[in-house]
Amino acid sequence: MQVTEKIKASKNPFEAALQNFDLAANMLELDPNIRQIIKYPERILHVSLPVRMDDGHIHRFEGYRVQHSTARGPAKGGIRFHPNVTLDEVKALATWMTWKCAVVNIPYGGGKGGVTCSPKEMSQGELERMTRRYAASILPLIGPEQDIPAPDVYTNSQTMAWIMDTYSMTKGYPIPGVVTGKPIALGGSLGRNEATGRGVYYTTLSAAEHLGVPVKGAKVVVQGFGNAGSIAAQLLHGAEACVIGVSDSRGCIYNRNGLDVPKLITYKEKTGQVLGFPGAEEIRPDELLGLECGILIPAALENAIDGDNARTIKAKIVGEAANGPVTPEGDLILEDKGVFLIPDILCNAGGVTVSYFEWVQDEQHLFWEAADVYNRLERVMKTSFAEVLKIHLDRKVSMRIAANMLGVGRVGEAVKLRGLYP
Ligand code: NAD
Repeated sequence: MQVTEKIKASKNPFEAALQNFDLAANMLELDPNIRQIIKYPERILHVSLPVRMDDGHIHRFEGYRVQHSTARGPAKGGIRFHPNVTLDEVKALATWMTWKCAVVNIPYGGGKGGVTCSPKEMSQGELERMTRRYAASILPLIGPEQDIPAPDVYTNSQTMAWIMDTYSMTKGYPIPGVVTGKPIALGGSLGRNEATGRGVYYTTLSAAEHLGVPVKGAKVVVQGFGNAGSIAAQLLHGAEACVIGVSDSRGCIYNRNGLDVPKLITYKEKTGQVLGFPGAEEIRPDELLGLECGILIPAALENAIDGDNARTIKAKIVGEAANGPVTPEGDLILEDKGVFLIPDILCNAGGVTVSYFEWVQDEQHLFWEAADVYNRLERVMKTSFAEVLKIHLDRKVSMRIAANMLGVGRVGEAVKLRGLYP
């Protein structure tokens, strides 16, 4: 391991993003002038959102939209509704989007948005009014050629439909390309809803192939049974892996003989939780992460694996479906233990890749079949995995730094070619 810089123990995801940027830039011997240009977000918009609640009072929410980079194309990145959303979290997520889009070589920069709110405690009407007010407030930044939002934690295709409608009403004509992850009926792409989980699945297959371990029969644990986690679990279940443990925000379940994932998805849709699934026992979150397994997929939020609990991880492969689930301190411990990490900016890039396909289809008014989407996605994920793996092996750096080197290097090249304005 050539990268020996001291790692600071921090739970601030933006600091983690900056630390990994520095490690990658050092390995690339990146020109200090280029570093100055690409390290920090280009634009930050902080908005105040007064919303009339169902009981008649007005509640004020805080929202953000961050454009980290537009060097390689329009900013691209999801919108998160969560009580713990902070500006630093959104800045970190926007930064990771920049490197992620460059890793899979799609013509986008990186952006992200968020509103600090508790969507589970809000009615549909309250959510719609808050979403529309947020869309109107970030209107100066977004647009199909400028900055294109998508779903993230606790937002979905309905959220995107409201943003698309708000944006289109102010412009006076329908503009589906302003968001991706839309409903199919509004110009969404087949395969977008499952794209992140499918990308996680493809990169996990590539990792298993590289390590020479079979996926069939491998024990799998998934933290966060939402869009990304449940689809990854379902596809691995379909490949005859044995999903023994999963969790969501309400609790964790375990069955040593394997969970019936399709039935669990239906159960979660009906009850809103995984707890109580017939035949599974409840376990604690720390027990879930420490389960004996071949593949661990953190698919919830940042900082799930840190300096305190990384030693308890027994998985051979950790596939980061979530953004930033392992802290820099956690990274070093996992690496020391010989865990093979598929870093977030590679592992979960299937979502933004199919978002790109959706945007291309919207711009051309010509829609593809699902098989086309899956084939193209598989090609992108497998090619990107091979490129990151090559850097990992040739330069003897972790998979995390290898992915950052690929992403940062491509953005650095774009900035160098564009030159400095004015
Ligand atoms: P989601 O809202 O569909 O699901 C999130 C899931 O995590 C929910 O089931 C929730 O209950 C669970 N959760 C929340 N806190 C938890 C905790 N402390 N422990 C266990 N589970 C917990 O969100 P999603 O879109 O699946 O996003 C999950 C992660 O994947 C995020 O980090 C997101 O940034 C990342 N991601 C999502 C996409 C996408 O296209 N949706 C793309 C790339 C990355």
